[in-house]
Amino acid sequence: MRTRRAALSAIASAACLALTLTACGQDSEGGSEENAGSSEGGTIGIAMPTKSSERWIADGDNVKKDLESKGYETKLVYGEDDPDQQVSQIENLITQGVKALIVAAIDNKSLNNVLQQAADADIPVIAYDRLILGTENVDYYASFDNEKVGQLQATYIVDQLGLEDGKGPFNIELFAGSNDDNNTKYFFNGAMSVLQPYIDSGDLVVKSGQTDMTQATTLRWDGATAQKRMEDILTSTYGSARVDAVLSPYDGISIGILAALKSDGYGSADKPLPVVTGQDAELASVKSIIADEQSETVYKDTRELAKVASNMVDAVLNDKEPEVNDTKTYDNGSKVVPAYLLEPVNVDKSNYEKVLVDGGYYTADQLK
Ligand code: BGC
Repeated sequence: MRTRRAALSAIASAACLALTLTACGQDSEGGSEENAGSSEGGTIGIAMPTKSSERWIADGDNVKKDLESKGYETKLVYGEDDPDQQVSQIENLITQGVKALIVAAIDNKSLNNVLQQAADADIPVIAYDRLILGTENVDYYASFDNEKVGQLQATYIVDQLGLEDGKGPFNIELFAGSNDDNNTKYFFNGAMSVLQPYIDSGDLVVKSGQTDMTQATTLRWDGATAQKRMEDILTSTYGSARVDAVLSPYDGISIGILAALKSDGYGSADKPLPVVTGQDAELASVKSIIADEQSETVYKDTRELAKVASNMVDAVLNDKEPEVNDTKTYDNGSKVVPAYLLEPVNVDKSNYEKVLVDGGYYTADQLK
């Protein structure tokens, strides 16, 4: 009997042959529209990283809703940022006989054994938002263009400071995400591809000297950890000098950075806050943008991502080919995982109403 995994690998090879240049491109605007047709039903396991950030709550709810509308049952679990807990949750889902798994990893390298168990039970796996590394046993990847996230943040800084108009030099500090999240290096490298030329020319100065990603990471994306690092940098390096911009990869980190800046006296007329970026358009950060504190956030529509992942599951379980638009970028060390990447969007005070309110992500009331 041909196993689901053998069928999947045949589908993946056919997909690679059949992909046209357009289909491989990065120009998609929306989610995967294809509905793979009638489902074979059953329960899908959804493993999310944490409830401590709004985005993952929305992701979980949206994936659940989409799968249920296709006739599946779902089991949604949250690992509370503890890799061991996530492993045992996935083990339990396998034992409970789920038909497929959608996993947003906490630690991208800790899942190899449990995903081998999934493969042995012929359970297909979709990596959700964060790629899982070092295993053959991940079938598809649903995410955003992660490098572009960093490019958007950095371009925003360049524009706001007026670097292209010859203004400067300015002081900047750099923050990165969790070192066990594969997205971190894409965000950071994407940002540095834009910032590095200005650092090389001296128009941007990283006064702390901490330019290497390993010096800038923030374990588990923790805001308090970022706050402490920003406080240490301000105390040890700045004295009477001023920080003009802070590259922050995530709204929760931005909130920590802003707290450190405010307790150092930033946020007054003679000491305005620097440009501070973010990601995820979390409610508190959008409010902070409206209040002229955080400068921007990169919005990623989790409703679209949930659709892509649910459609992938539905296709795979019906022996159809999931829609992908990238078959080159995401090498997990064991294979290049076929991916569908959505487009992230820059949001600041000038467009939050159009993007977030008109787009139905938040109501105007929620942002009051
Ligand atoms: C996600 C980001 C999120 C971060 C922290 C990353 O893997 O791509 O959207 O801000 O995790 O939760």
